[in-house]
Amino acid sequence: MFAMGRLYFIFMLASVAAACAAPTTKPVSIGQVEEIYADTVDALGVVTTIDSGLYSTYDGKNRTAWEQRYKEKRKELVDGLAALSIDHFSALDSRAVMLMRANLGSNLTENPYVSASNTPSSDGKCKDASRKDLDSAALGEALYSCFEELGNRIPFENRFVTRVSAMELLARTEDPQRRKALFLAFVPLWEAINGHNETDSPYRRTMKFAAADAAADGSRIDTAARAIGQQTADVERWLEQILDTWRQVLPDHPVEPWNYLYAGGDADRVLAAAIPLAALLPINQRYYHDLGADLKDLGILYDIGPRPGKAPLSYTNYVTMGRFIKGTWRPTIARVSASYTDGGLGLLNELVHENGHAVHYCAIHNRPAFMDIGADDIFDEAFADVTSWNVYDPAWQRKYVGHEVSESAALRSQYTMVTLDVAWALFEMRMLHKPDADPNGVWTDITSHYLHIVPHPELSWWALRVQLVSDPGFMINYGLGSVVTADLRRHIRESIGPFNTGNLRWYPWISENLLRFGTERETAELLRSFLGRPVSPEAMLDDIRRIAPDSLRESSSAEKSKNSR
Ligand SMILES: [Zn+2]
Repeated sequence: MFAMGRLYFIFMLASVAAACAAPTTKPVSIGQVEEIYADTVDALGVVTTIDSGLYSTYDGKNRTAWEQRYKEKRKELVDGLAALSIDHFSALDSRAVMLMRANLGSNLTENPYVSASNTPSSDGKCKDASRKDLDSAALGEALYSCFEELGNRIPFENRFVTRVSAMELLARTEDPQRRKALFLAFVPLWEAINGHNETDSPYRRTMKFAAADAAADGSRIDTAARAIGQQTADVERWLEQILDTWRQVLPDHPVEPWNYLYAGGDADRVLAAAIPLAALLPINQRYYHDLGADLKDLGILYDIGPRPGKAPLSYTNYVTMGRFIKGTWRPTIARVSASYTDGGLGLLNELVHENGHAVHYCAIHNRPAFMDIGADDIFDEAFADVTSWNVYDPAWQRKYVGHEVSESAALRSQYTMVTLDVAWALFEMRMLHKPDADPNGVWTDITSHYLHIVPHPELSWWALRVQLVSDPGFMINYGLGSVVTADLRRHIRESIGPFNTGNLRWYPWISENLLRFGTERETAELLRSFLGRPVSPEAMLDDIRRIAPDSLRESSSAEKSKNSR
């Protein structure tokens, strides 16, 4: 999944509102509008599937025909929504209209074919980032381009590697000198983002814009906190608590930033050879089959090999949504796209995550307006990790990979990445709170205290994630999402027993109790009724404590036996 740009979203909402102001067509029922809505979403799903290069035709029609259908249906949808008289609608019908309108603004746009999965190259906009006269949107665009132009071309040993590959190489490369050289090869990107950390550097200007927006309309962080039914201040305390627990289980001696991913990468290195490329999908099929979700029976489409011009990121989408046709349910068709050229634990984790989205799509049985996996950016990503975290479980590894690492090594690999997301979330929270702060200083404080990383305030090495510049505050969805994942996992275990090496009740139960509603309810309400209580960070804290050095492990053993799987 990927999120659409926020500014674009707001702009489109404005135009939808304008379109709704003057209804010109005769009144229609909400049921009719939802049928048109489903047709519109399906037509777009097919066009994007054809654009991905997987098929040249679908259901006997080519792209031109499907695009034509999309335009017609979209026009009908705009008119239908405008003609609805919502004054006496129930709360549920009003929510249905609200969600359809929001989707019309964010995804079902007039020209939606340029999306995060096939963004055109940005034509050298990165250099504009140093211009002082750019507004917030133009500056964000320029900085996003820097990640394409420089981030996708990190010079390393006579070749270029992408940022994502470079981060994987940092976890796998044995020679510390090579790791340092690779880390320092990021400097041109960091300088494009944050100059020499001067007070009006591109990033520091971005944060001033973002803080002003947040003061006016609330921040991404407020939205995420609300989505799980919490206050922003509580969320900040949780992030600090999580990082503090991680600090206590990490070895005491400080490591250089270029060695940090390597130090947490034992499981990835040991298991790499046991997870070849060809095994990624069969392992997924076996695992989900053991969870009661047969990926073949569900009809999920896989397009996971590389192809020229294909999107460099992995994602899962609808082709067509499930719905009742003449009283019979026609199942959802979901599609998983990736460009895998290697195997390994990290990519296996990613494919299990994408399949988490796919089975989520397939589990929703509701009216068209609610046939989506999330109305915010937290729940669907958190749910997809419910299964994917199991690849770090030694029992799972033994069963599906044939080799295993110790529980501590496995959890350390997993939480090295998870806690970095938490660190970025806290970084953004502090920057949005004090936009004049020195970002290198804020990052150095967090990473030296909590992650035991040697201070390098001269380097803007926090700038490893695109979202930090394209959508300030977005990292909270990952940092806080992991809290939700850990909490969901605990509640599922307590309700139906362990599922780390399979549990045939898992999919039917989770579908019935959590997934089938789609977006019918607000996330906070959905989570509260599923968990029977508010979301809590305790499950994640207990998980991290299982990596504790021996002294700590003694004191948490009582809790450990309570939660053992
Ligand atoms: Zn995802």
